[in-house]
Amino acid sequence: MQRIYRGRFAPSPTGPLHFGSLVAALASYLDAKKHNGEWLIRIEDVDGSRCKKEHAQSLISALSSYGLLSDLPILKQSTRFELYENTLQSLNTQKKVFPCHCTRQSLKTYQGRHPHICSPNISNTEKPSSEHSWRLLTNQKAIFEVNDPIQGHLLFDAEKLQNNPILKRKDGFFSYQLAVVVDDHAQEITHLVRGSDLLDTTTEQLYLYSILDWEPPSMCHIPVILDSNGNKVSKQNHAKALLAGDKLTLLTALKYLQITNISPALHIQEILQLAIKKWNPEKIQQSKSIQLKPEDCWLIQ
Ligand SMILES: [Zn+2]
Repeated sequence: MQRIYRGRFAPSPTGPLHFGSLVAALASYLDAKKHNGEWLIRIEDVDGSRCKKEHAQSLISALSSYGLLSDLPILKQSTRFELYENTLQSLNTQKKVFPCHCTRQSLKTYQGRHPHICSPNISNTEKPSSEHSWRLLTNQKAIFEVNDPIQGHLLFDAEKLQNNPILKRKDGFFSYQLAVVVDDHAQEITHLVRGSDLLDTTTEQLYLYSILDWEPPSMCHIPVILDSNGNKVSKQNHAKALLAGDKLTLLTALKYLQITNISPALHIQEILQLAIKKWNPEKIQQSKSIQLKPEDCWLIQ
């Protein structure tokens, strides 16, 4: 059965909305609406040590000031640990994860990489607990294919996952990769439109889909915006918070998605409606990144 299009924007509440995340939010929104689909916001606060409640609220308000409203109630990953735990337990039953007692100190001997010697320590009786981390057993050979409307035909080789990624940390927090896959599946997300910086994590996500026997969403990766120093416009690089509902900001963000010639005299909702009509990911240059033009640097500084 053909599933209806459902997309999402899933920010981590580690800071206010900045220009790079507005561009990513718009791309996923426009693609969903162009396909008459639904668009959801999900707050990715799975890592409780980095995320703050006030940032979640400010992100939601900032998005709504740009007319970007979730079509369904906004989920927060911090309320969904039971679901992640159930998935982990099911992977454990199928011997697709293993408990790891390595410490940061012991991994130093291996330059931070995970030694394969830990892998055979799988115990049938061991249940997920907080006394050790849980790692993904990456012993299945596979090459995953993605036809990305912007980045083209991409191949992701499971060989790259030799390092047995952690799915649950010793301190009880689940990994972003596990949470995002479980949530996208549970929310029946059919299409991901997101920044190309996430291509690095795609192999692990596709591997998880494969061992869980779930169908992965279609994927489209837009170029990430770089500042004049070549750094990604991000919270880590101190990109400033955006003005709320600012039309010039919105029109500039659309320009980086190859949507131009929209009058600033229009209201935000009208701008969005026109942008939906004009959205065409194939017009976006096949590139992992795009440099912010000097005249647009006020948006991040
Ligand atoms: Zn280990």
